[in-house]
This record gives sequence, C-alpha cells and structure tokens, in this order.
Amino acid sequence: MSSNLSLEVIKSLPKVVLHDHLDGGVRPATIAELAKETGYDKLPTQDPVALANWFREACDSGSLETYLEAFVHTVGVMQTPAAIERVAFEAVEDLANDGVVYAEIRMAPELLQEKGLSLDEVVEQMLAGFKRGEREMQAQGKTIRIGLLLTAMRTAARSSEIAQLAIKWRDKGVVGFDIAGKEAGYPPTRHLDAFDAIRQANFHMTIHAGEAFGLPSIWEAVQICGTDRLGHGVRIVDDITFDSNNSPILGPMAAYVRDRRVPLEMCPSSNVQTGAAKSIKEHPISLLRKLQFRVTVNTDNRLMSDTFMSKEMYLLVHEAGFTLKDLQWLTVNAMKSAFIPFDERLALINEVIKPGYAKVAKDQGITF
Ligand SMILES: [Zn+2]
Repeated sequence: MSSNLSLEVIKSLPKVVLHDHLDGGVRPATIAELAKETGYDKLPTQDPVALANWFREACDSGSLETYLEAFVHTVGVMQTPAAIERVAFEAVEDLANDGVVYAEIRMAPELLQEKGLSLDEVVEQMLAGFKRGEREMQAQGKTIRIGLLLTAMRTAARSSEIAQLAIKWRDKGVVGFDIAGKEAGYPPTRHLDAFDAIRQANFHMTIHAGEAFGLPSIWEAVQICGTDRLGHGVRIVDDITFDSNNSPILGPMAAYVRDRRVPLEMCPSSNVQTGAAKSIKEHPISLLRKLQFRVTVNTDNRLMSDTFMSKEMYLLVHEAGFTLKDLQWLTVNAMKSAFIPFDERLALINEVIKPGYAKVAKDQGITF
C-alpha cells in the first residue's frame, strides 16, 4: 500500500526539483553566522532556533510584507563572494541529502550587488558553490547535478541585462532564465525584450505566472512571451469547469497547456502558505494530475515554507492520495522538463530514476 510510504522511504527515492529559490533555502544557522561575519545587523534574533521559528511564523502570518521581509534577511547576508559560495554549496548538500539527483536552483543576481559585486562575480560564486557541492556529494556516493536559472525581478527594469547574462553563462552552468516577483500590476509583457533575446539565442526560460494572479498572466507568459515552462501555473484550473455529471471541461487555455505539454512547476506547501490553495488535499495538483497535465512538484522556498522535496511528496501521498507510481510520474515529468540536453535527461530517467523507483517498489512489495 502506497499510504505506508514513510518519509525515510521517500527520502531514498531519486527526486528532481525544477523550482527552488537559492535565497529561499538558506539554513537558519548559516544566516546567523553569515550575519556576524558580514556585519549584517538587522536580524530579528541571532539564535538559530529562534531564527528558524521567526521565519516560519513570519511566513505563515499571511502578511505579504512579513513574508517579503524574510527574503530581505536571507539576501542581506548573501552579499560577499564567500557567503554566496557557501549558501550555494549548502543548498546542494541539503538537496543531495534529501535524495535529489537533479535540481535547477534559481536566484536573481541583481539582489546580491549591495556591496558592489558585479553580476558576473555573483554568478561565478553561485556556480563555484554548486560545483564544490557536486564534487563533495559525489565523494560521499551521492550523485547530484545542479543547473542555475538566472531570475530577473519583474518589478525592476533589468530583465534584458539578466537575460544577456544568462546567455553569456549558458555553457558554464546556467541552464535558463526566469522572471519572478509581484504578479499583479507587473505583467510579463513588460519584459518582452528579455524573452525575445532568450528565444532568439535558442535558450530556455520559465516564468512565474498564475500563482496568485489568474489566467491572463498565464496566457501572456505562454502566448506572448513564449515561455517553456510555467512557475506555479496553478490558476490554470480557472479555465476548467465541470458539467452536470461532474466531468471536467477544459477551456482553450487549459487545453493548450495540457496538450502542448507545458510543464507546471507546482509548489503545494508554498501555495497553501500564500493562500493560492486551501490545503494540500484540495490543491489543484490532484485534478491536474488526473487530467494528465505535465505536472511537477517542487519546494519553492525550503526555509520560508519549512519544507524539502521528500516532505512535499510525503504530504501528497498522505493528504492527497498520491501513490509511488504517481511520485515516479512526477519525477519523470520533471526530468523531461529540465533544461539540460535531451540525451542527458534520458540517461537520468533510464539509469537513475526508473531503477531507483523499481528498487523501492520491490523492497516495499508494490507492483506497478
Ligand atoms: Zn518561485
């Protein structure tokens, strides 16, 4: 029975994460240490345990201002080359220890320039941390591969510059471009030059769209900006209705997203926290899975949402009835949707993911 899947068993499964913010996953103890080292004096408390609680409570408060304040502190301690490298390294360590085998981690480099670092220096340090993490994990027998996504802030005006930066670093560890930040009032079409540059360079992008804001944002991201994937995209359910027999009817936008296999980077705990979904049980991920959208499951902000990949999967199993087979499906979906070359994705699916699930299925006596 899949409902017997324990957290330990889920941790042993190979997992893939496509939507994970570097500044949303810093360890509380590291925040406290880096604050001391870098002279950042605005933390609400210096004690790592109290700090972890502060982050959880601030982010659960339902207030957007307090939620955003949490990022002010993580970004605040990530302003030196050594701090950036350390945070990047620890992200790899935390993901690998959770059984993640492939991750795309995103960060807006423009936020890490408060002490005068150039954009190139910021990218260089993030990639150095990722490489060290991959090497050290490999030495411990845990194989993980990391790709960096460079994010531009949709409320700012530097998206073209960040898109060019992503293209410049494409063969050195950057795998794509993203745009994030407040949706309402800041449609993705404000950044068309950046998306055009990415497409014209045959590069990859994902756009945060349809998280709190509705269908128009998804439509613009897909049809005007030409995004490869949707960050969240959860509001696509607004284009799904039900007939008198309770059978779902897909509107044209929902049908397009499903039929063209546009990947949805869904982040259940994050959505519950920000009010985009009522509970894990009622999260649209269940309906979208049933309708066979290209659904993936992700962490978004591990610190702010007090989560990790295995926990997201555990919640889906125990609160929304997902099976081991569903978890494999989500993982293969994510790997298929990654921005690394096709042959490398295929190798990970056939040589790492499927054998990993088959082994757990055998150990647990589950047939699928
Ligand atoms: Zn996000």
